[in-house]
Amino acid sequence: MVNRAAQIAGYELVWIKTDSPEAAFEKDIADLWPFATDYEERHKTMYLTRDWWRVGNILHFPESAPILNVSQLEGKRLAIASPQRRFLPKAARDWKAHIEVFSSRAESLDAMCTGKVDAALIDYRVADGVMVNRPSSCQPMRMGTLFAEDSSRIFALAAKFGFQQDADRIRDAIDTMVESGEMIDIAIRWRLLHRTDSAFILWLNLAREKNKLLQNLFWGSLLALALVILFATRMANARKMAELSARSRSQFLANMSHEIRTPMNGILGMTELTLESNLTGEQRDNLTMARNSAHRLLEILDDILDFSRIESGKLTLEAIPFDLADTAKRSVQILRLAAQAKNLDLEFKMQPGIPKHVSGDPGRIQQVLVNLLGNAVKFTEQGFVRLELSFRSPSSGQYDIQFTVTDSGIGIRPEKQKQIFDAFTQADATTTRKFGGTGLGLAISSELVRMMGGRLTVDSKPNAGSPF
Ligand code: ADP
Repeated sequence: MVNRAAQIAGYELVWIKTDSPEAAFEKDIADLWPFATDYEERHKTMYLTRDWWRVGNILHFPESAPILNVSQLEGKRLAIASPQRRFLPKAARDWKAHIEVFSSRAESLDAMCTGKVDAALIDYRVADGVMVNRPSSCQPMRMGTLFAEDSSRIFALAAKFGFQQDADRIRDAIDTMVESGEMIDIAIRWRLLHRTDSAFILWLNLAREKNKLLQNLFWGSLLALALVILFATRMANARKMAELSARSRSQFLANMSHEIRTPMNGILGMTELTLESNLTGEQRDNLTMARNSAHRLLEILDDILDFSRIESGKLTLEAIPFDLADTAKRSVQILRLAAQAKNLDLEFKMQPGIPKHVSGDPGRIQQVLVNLLGNAVKFTEQGFVRLELSFRSPSSGQYDIQFTVTDSGIGIRPEKQKQIFDAFTQADATTTRKFGGTGLGLAISSELVRMMGGRLTVDSKPNAGSPF
């Protein structure tokens, strides 16, 4: 074991046969001693590393006077074989037993069997042997035993003064071997451990491996948790910043469109007034164009205002009783002139059984319908535009009403169908140039429908109309 540990620590040991570490160091024939019992007096003559091996003692006593705990040794006579005496650690001296020294282990056992002492302390390693060749006085006796851990003999790596560091390095390498399991392998290979001991140690080893795994898992999870917290905080901050900037942008848009609205109303009012006065034909045409442009500009401002209200969560819906058919018809009516101008059939259908009186926000429903109908008229050159109202069977007094706006216009390519619901997005730049628009209408409409608990979808094919 020590040879392998030295190798790990980067030393090559030369082994010498000699009597004791004291003699070897004194005569200066060795620098290290691999396996030296650690006892107090030894520290005066040599350096001893942390222990790396222990051998326990077993207390033997007559079964008729059992010792169940080392504390029961107080005041009792305890036999110890003389070589053992000086190795007895302080803990064992605290038992406060009267120690009697015998020249051999067999003699101390005999003393116990003949009643001269109450108990005998014998090395764990040799206890079996002593029992097999037990003294004749012990033959008829029934004996009890107790493993006295406190009295374990402790072994360390010894070094001549001046070689402390080298000894410690090799001692540390023993720890590495214990960690890696190499130590157990060597102990079992050289039969330093009994088979049952080795099974037990292997089992401990497995437990240690498991422990290490758990420890790694623990630190791993802790690290992951820390990362999650870090990223979550960062994301929360980023989201807060984004929300803040979205809110200030919406606020800005709302303020601006409001500010522009006031002078626009002045322009519209004055234009209307002037149109009522005596004008030449050309003047009237020019002023009419100015009025229409002003109206269009107001519509755009309204869209921006709505959009920024939705973004900042400030748009609220009304819940008032209203006539559903009436609202739908009025929306169609608003587009009547525009459809006529393009020679389009403007149709309105309503499934019988739809309730007349409902509760909701008629203004916002009309806004959505006018937007959809307006788009349908805008993107249809010939044919029809139709608004259809149908419903699904009522459940608990609630009606699922479906509004369908269909046209026979240019249609929308499938890949564009999702995007058109995003703000400022249009399906086709060329149609935009031709028809104008901001790309806000559908974004606002779908948000309004969502707020009403519905869904705005499209199922269109190019040149086959667009049912919304
Ligand atoms: P705008 O009409 O102001 O551009 P919208 O959000 O209302 O904004 O519409 C977005 C885009 O969706 C339109 O520019 C157009 O490309 C497409 N679109 C909407 N309705 C129709 C329709 N009925 N037929 C074909 N394309 C449509």
